[in-house]
Amino acid sequence: MKKITLICSLFFCMSYAIGQADVSPVGEPFPIRGFCIGAPRTADLKEFIRFIEEELAPRKVNTLILRVDFNYQFKSHPELRDSSALTETDVRKLVTVCRKYGIRIIPQINLLGHQSWAGTVHNLLRVHPEFDETPHIAMPEKYEWPNKDGLYCKSYCPLHPDVHKVVFDLVDEICTIFKADAFHAGMDEVFYIGHDSCTRCSGHDKAELFAGEVWAIRNHLQKKERQLWIWGDRLIDGKNTGLGMWEASYNNTYRAIDMIPKDIIICDWHYERADQTPVYFAMKGLTVVTCPYRKPDVAVSQADDMVKYRQSATPEMKERYAGMVQTVWSPASAFLKSYYNDSNEKPVTYNTPVNCFKVLYKHLKTLKPAQ
Ligand SMILES: [Zn+2]
Repeated sequence: MKKITLICSLFFCMSYAIGQADVSPVGEPFPIRGFCIGAPRTADLKEFIRFIEEELAPRKVNTLILRVDFNYQFKSHPELRDSSALTETDVRKLVTVCRKYGIRIIPQINLLGHQSWAGTVHNLLRVHPEFDETPHIAMPEKYEWPNKDGLYCKSYCPLHPDVHKVVFDLVDEICTIFKADAFHAGMDEVFYIGHDSCTRCSGHDKAELFAGEVWAIRNHLQKKERQLWIWGDRLIDGKNTGLGMWEASYNNTYRAIDMIPKDIIICDWHYERADQTPVYFAMKGLTVVTCPYRKPDVAVSQADDMVKYRQSATPEMKERYAGMVQTVWSPASAFLKSYYNDSNEKPVTYNTPVNCFKVLYKHLKTLKPAQ
């Protein structure tokens, strides 16, 4: 028994070291069993660590995507820190507990898009308004969608000559402090790209601009053998598929799927249906994980599909179907509050991120690995 434990431990260490799960750990339905949430604030750190130890670890979650953004006391760019941000000591606590349980932390900073939310400009463009792809579009006092500017979130201009120096400083610092061998760059829901008003980008092919930014980030990470993860929505044709402008692209970025590097990981999020888009990504040579949110029945179907894909795939395709990542879009504090305040078991039809997480991971226990 001990020998088996040792072999399993060695396996986890090896998977961790190479930064990619190439095969499912013994007895698990697929290699990546993830959880994605906003990084906690210092005040919630203790409870979040309890959640890792008591909820994530026993469920064999092995990948934790933490959306950090500016919630860290960056030394390279202190001017970009949130007013209340995690300290180096806080992060070390997270790294220690995750290493103890074989959980790979993948920190995220939103690059390219999501540089604002509703009526608020986030730190990068607030400090560096010169990076704004659409500086002429003012933030509204009262945000509403739709609006005349088509403003969802601001983007930075990927062709600005100084933007990468700043954002890559942040990427490097956060990967180092989290001891991360992978980084999540977000890159979802980029509505402003190649805008006609941008003197650098106007007239460029939007798919080429998107792919160029993926390559730039990937090549930077590769220097330290780190792996790039991104959301998949910009790579799907929203009109042809009927998937719409949020979980797929209406602005012609989808052709970038044939231009981007194949060694990145695609987080393919679909919250309303178990769309079969992982097959599309895998057939393009990309490794993919499916990401549910708040509907347990959708998550269960997606998990069953992931096993089915692996069972029916060629050996070349099989390992591209890498697993699942449960996503949570409220702050960690709000999620933890609902998690611990309402511990009663709920039916599968009870649609919340907490219940989706519980039902999905309970279901994973019943699934067998593909032969
Ligand atoms: Zn531009």
